[in-house]
Amino acid sequence: MKKILIVGGVAGGATAATRLRRLDEHDKIIMFERGKYISFANCGLPYHISGVIPRREDLLLQTAESFRSRYNVDVRTHSEVLSIDTELKKVDVKNLLTSEIYSESYDKLILAPGAAPIMPAIEGINLDNVFTLRNIDDMDRIKQYIKTAQVKTAAIVGGGFIGLEMAENLKKAGLKVSIIEMSNQLMAVLDAEMAEEVHKYIEQLGIALYLGNGLKKVEPNGEKIKISLSNGTLEEDMLILAIGVKPETALVKNAGLNLNERGGIIVNKHMQTSDPDIYAVGDAVQVMDFVTKKPVMVPLAGPANKQARIAADNICGINSEYNGTQGSAIIKIFDMTIAATGINEKTASSLSINYDKIYLWLNAHAAYYPGAKAMSIKIIFDKTSEKILGAQIAGFNGVDKRCDVLAVAIRAGMRAKELAELELCYSPPYSSAKDPVNMAAYVMENVLTGKIKNFHWHDVDTLPKDGSVILIDVREALEYEEGHIDGFINIPLDTLRERIKELDKEKTVYVNCHSGIRSYTAARILMQNGFNVFNLSGGYRLYKVAKLRV
Ligand code: FAD
Repeated sequence: MKKILIVGGVAGGATAATRLRRLDEHDKIIMFERGKYISFANCGLPYHISGVIPRREDLLLQTAESFRSRYNVDVRTHSEVLSIDTELKKVDVKNLLTSEIYSESYDKLILAPGAAPIMPAIEGINLDNVFTLRNIDDMDRIKQYIKTAQVKTAAIVGGGFIGLEMAENLKKAGLKVSIIEMSNQLMAVLDAEMAEEVHKYIEQLGIALYLGNGLKKVEPNGEKIKISLSNGTLEEDMLILAIGVKPETALVKNAGLNLNERGGIIVNKHMQTSDPDIYAVGDAVQVMDFVTKKPVMVPLAGPANKQARIAADNICGINSEYNGTQGSAIIKIFDMTIAATGINEKTASSLSINYDKIYLWLNAHAAYYPGAKAMSIKIIFDKTSEKILGAQIAGFNGVDKRCDVLAVAIRAGMRAKELAELELCYSPPYSSAKDPVNMAAYVMENVLTGKIKNFHWHDVDTLPKDGSVILIDVREALEYEEGHIDGFINIPLDTLRERIKELDKEKTVYVNCHSGIRSYTAARILMQNGFNVFNLSGGYRLYKVAKLRV
């Protein structure tokens, strides 16, 4: 019989405990949790604030008692593990209700302490109407404050996943919402032009965006708070801080475990720390990025749960490996869904990967079936190995399905050719006979085999306008009249064959249409007539979106 201690009783800790028990009925398992609750649904917290999840108890997936009776785990809530003695193999624990401090020995120790919201060191950050959201107590405080102080307006600092989920839910709770973000874009996982899809939608909802604007100071102003930004001030009833998280690893400070510069615990593929009897999982650990093979810290629930299972397996003698996190993530903002997996272009270019990219604008299902809405897709792929490296999708329905298929493709090391072969479910309410994933693969194949050469939204303004190249917009005349890129002449696709003789073969041709599909056909016509042609990937539409703020 082994004695196994677990620090942290939510995603990683609770998963490790149940897996350990299922693998070995006889081990002694003790799980310490500093808070009152274990195994609660932290991902669901924003939705109870709005009332979308009406019953608070639905977020409490397990209680200490249910965990004890079902899994025979000794659950100790209100118990903070203060330190680890790796020589004597024991931890010091403080009972937060009685202030008693005691020691508990272990054969194996699993650390799942998670990550805490970052609190910037600025004036006023501890005011009563400044909040963060990590656990049930935080959620209760926010909900209670909205009610008792009759909150009408809120500012959220941080445009990441939690910030945006809070924006949606506070708006649904009837508040006027502003988002403050220091960088020039929301959602750092997206590349800038894909983030513009989100900005455009969010602003249409009436949520105010303050991008490129840092939080400087918070001051009380009667019942309200005055929020000073690097550029301007706001006056709001409450402020939510969601600027990221930092690993909560103070307890390992003197344990001599290898940590990275952010305090993240360094683990091997078995989720084992530099001490072979101590394992660590979840938001507190540094793992390997699945695509780049570089060290990363990715605070997501899926990886935390998988890592916990792997740590438990290894403790119980099953050789199990964690092969990296690829950062598959998704968010709903009102009707919009945004999902990403693998690396973005910022990462690919910073690592000098030999990558290329494509953009698509495709319907989630057959256009003729009611409710068809288009999604904006960006895919990054390796030009040498032809493997998919990353995907970003913003749309309304069917985004989750496509991003999940692409996540599988990345995990399986699939190349464009194999992605093209995927046979996905189709009937008109769900997809098209050529699913957007297949379409993406076809475009990648065309690029890789030279059937099409692309240029991109950021190349457009660098094109010469002196007549040395030919710039053609192949949309219909009416579309062209409603707006077009400066310098592009209109030759609608259906008239191109008859007007081809007007064009000088000695000059390179750049073609565009609305989304890049008609211009692809135009490019193929021109290429087969001896022209050197480039097609605007993502079309005029993406160019307009990407240039929204320029
Ligand atoms: P946690 O689940 O945070 O658990 C750590 C626990 O350890 C905490 O309860 C803490 O009190 C306890 N603890 C810390 N130190 C000690 C100590 N010394 N002694 C005893 N106990 C200690 N991820 C997604 O993938 N999708 C989502 O939609 C999503 N939404 C989220 C929404 C919100 C509001 C939040 C806060 C997070 C969300 N996440 C989401 C992130 C996800 O919840 C985390 O990645 C995941 O919970 C990490 O698991 P963990 O076990 O490492 O840490």
